[in-house]
Amino acid sequence: MDSSPRTSGPPLHETGARLTIDLSALAANWRRLAACAHGAECAAVVKADAYGLGIAEAVPALSRAGVRTFFVAHTVEGIAVRKAAPDAVIYILNGLPSGGGDAMRQHDLRPVLGDPGEITDWQAGGSGPAALHVDTGMNRLGLTLDQARRTEFRPALLMSHLACADTPDHPRNALQLANFHAFRALFPGVPASLANSAATLTGGDYLFDLCRPGIALYGGNPFANRPNPMAPVVRLEARILQVREVPAGEPVGYGAAEVMTRPSRIAILSAGYADGLHRQAGSTDAARGADAIIGGVRCPFAGRISMDLIAVDVTDAPEAARGGMAVLLGDGIGVDDYARAAGTIGYEVLTGLGRRYHRVYAGG
Ligand SMILES: *Cc1c(COP(=O)(O)O)cnc(C)c1O
Repeated sequence: MDSSPRTSGPPLHETGARLTIDLSALAANWRRLAACAHGAECAAVVKADAYGLGIAEAVPALSRAGVRTFFVAHTVEGIAVRKAAPDAVIYILNGLPSGGGDAMRQHDLRPVLGDPGEITDWQAGGSGPAALHVDTGMNRLGLTLDQARRTEFRPALLMSHLACADTPDHPRNALQLANFHAFRALFPGVPASLANSAATLTGGDYLFDLCRPGIALYGGNPFANRPNPMAPVVRLEARILQVREVPAGEPVGYGAAEVMTRPSRIAILSAGYADGLHRQAGSTDAARGADAIIGGVRCPFAGRISMDLIAVDVTDAPEAARGGMAVLLGDGIGVDDYARAAGTIGYEVLTGLGRRYHRVYAGG
């Protein structure tokens, strides 16, 4: 068998940066979550193209690891999962769009129904197995307890979603758990699912029959205020286009937002906010932004992030040179570290990773 890693996107010499996705780490993260599920089935949430990493590669790797049930947001994503996993059970979290039932049935996809009208539409089109989403206190999707009492529909899966799972001791978790038990009593014998990544790791009463982790599979931290227990899956490296001298007192980049306080060497990297490197993670005189790693040295961003370029202060990184690579994610910089510098969460960094990268799928 060919053991060289698979690639997608443009070749590296036609673009600016390389995104490496470690499929072994992805599979290891799933096995870890499956162990935490203690006998409950461990599904995989692969919406938004497997959180930006690629359904076509992630789904076969997860299937080989043992995943039998997948969740996506939209039918088009479900069709992509069906191609990669012909025998899997596939749920569509965003439910049934009007006129969308035939496509779902054609590809053997199951909608997650969360509104009485949606149930009526699904049954009118011929029905088929579906999940029922009930609202236990997030006030987003799902039937109320009254609506659930009135429905005759028997779902293949009863599910709800926690609003505060990333903070395990938040009182809303216990409230939602108690509410979920009230719904369950209305659907005796129907398998139930409540846990996302954080709740799967929290375990205990949240596990039920099936867990639905997403972010933790991809190495993001599912917790708001705890160390990340998962293995990193993505590595992002951008080419150094040039290294220039910038005298003390001179600014770098748009808006002259950061003035160098010492004679500096500045490396210009071939990636920017159009590649999903949120502009908010730039550096100003008032606030340090994100870091890159060059030759093992942590180097702070210098000035604002441009569409296709990032300036980095490499004064303390003697190895920085034109044609070299700078690590933006990896070697200790997690997606959550970049996210913190950008004022957002790892989920948004992962799902925003650009389409211009040379992608390498390693460890499959
Ligand atoms: C996205 C999603 C998940 C996965 O959540 P993570 O926090 O990424 O583990 C589970 N259930 C539902 C309903 C979701 O929308």
